[in-house]
Amino acid sequence: MKIPESTSQSESGFAAPAKLLDGKLLSAQLKEQLKKELSDLRERFGHVPALVNIMIGEPASSCAYASSQKKVAGEIGIEYRLTSLPLEISQRDLIAYIEKLNKDPHIHGIMLHKPVPKQIDYRLVANHVDPAKDLEGINVENIGKMILGETRIIPCTPAAVMEHIKSSGINIRGKEAVVVGHSEIVGKPLSLLLLEQYATVTVCHVATHEAGKLREHVSQADILIVAVGKPALIKGDWIKKGSVVIDVGINRVGDRIEGDVEFESARRNAAYITPVPGGVGPVTVVMLMRNAIEAFKIQNRK
Ligand code: NAD
Repeated sequence: MKIPESTSQSESGFAAPAKLLDGKLLSAQLKEQLKKELSDLRERFGHVPALVNIMIGEPASSCAYASSQKKVAGEIGIEYRLTSLPLEISQRDLIAYIEKLNKDPHIHGIMLHKPVPKQIDYRLVANHVDPAKDLEGINVENIGKMILGETRIIPCTPAAVMEHIKSSGINIRGKEAVVVGHSEIVGKPLSLLLLEQYATVTVCHVATHEAGKLREHVSQADILIVAVGKPALIKGDWIKKGSVVIDVGINRVGDRIEGDVEFESARRNAAYITPVPGGVGPVTVVMLMRNAIEAFKIQNRK
């Protein structure tokens, strides 16, 4: 990807601020690649991937993400179905529904939208999704395969982060990569993907903060990824000069959306930085579609 020359050299002689890793631009390029791949698949198999997003009780907080998935699926040419199940559905009925989709040869990908109501054990139910149809890469089989480097269905946000890092042009091998946040959906899988590329990986979390060591680790990072959910947690003057900064955080601050990194001051030190909004988010949705295509290919190899 060509990085936009969005900033210029400061007249006072300071280094130019970081270039933006523009998620909209990157997602447009990735969508073009997927469209081409899809037209090959259509030619070879006569049909395209179809995915189902299962929403329970239609929580309003989930709807924006679902409509953006629908839009992106349409742009690429993937069939997208949104199923809304009643809020009071039992775990047993939900599993039975998922198993029906597992057997349906016309459905290639399944995702279970979060949040789920309290009677549902998300992890248990997610493990009933056929690993070959597990669009979010959260089934234990796919997580295990990821450790072995044997799956191409990887969780969408970590996959989006890796695409941003790739687009910066940095050679990951041997670099100090610091991941702040160790959640199952972002921090942990991301640290594995970085290890796979031979980065030297440090994972920080709430206890790193409690121990007063966050700044020390962050300031070592050639590649910094922050996925916490706390605005301005990472101060701009902690950022190593010339680093790549990927901000996954999404925080509502008044009427604005902000990340976890103090953007303006971080931009003075980093070489590349993702904006929030418009950085990781738009690419994450495209990664879901890439997983749908991978799932389709896995099922058609059988
Ligand atoms: P989570 O709540 O599951 O995990 C938060 C992590 O942050 C934990 O590892 C915790 O130990 C750590 N943490 C908490 N306080 C800390 C502190 N003071 N210092 C250092 N570490 C601290 O969160 P998640 O689901 O991984 O999401 C993280 C953020 O990323 C949220 O803002 C979420 O909205 C955003 N997110 C964005 C996308 C996207 O596509 N852009 C996708 C998923 C999540």
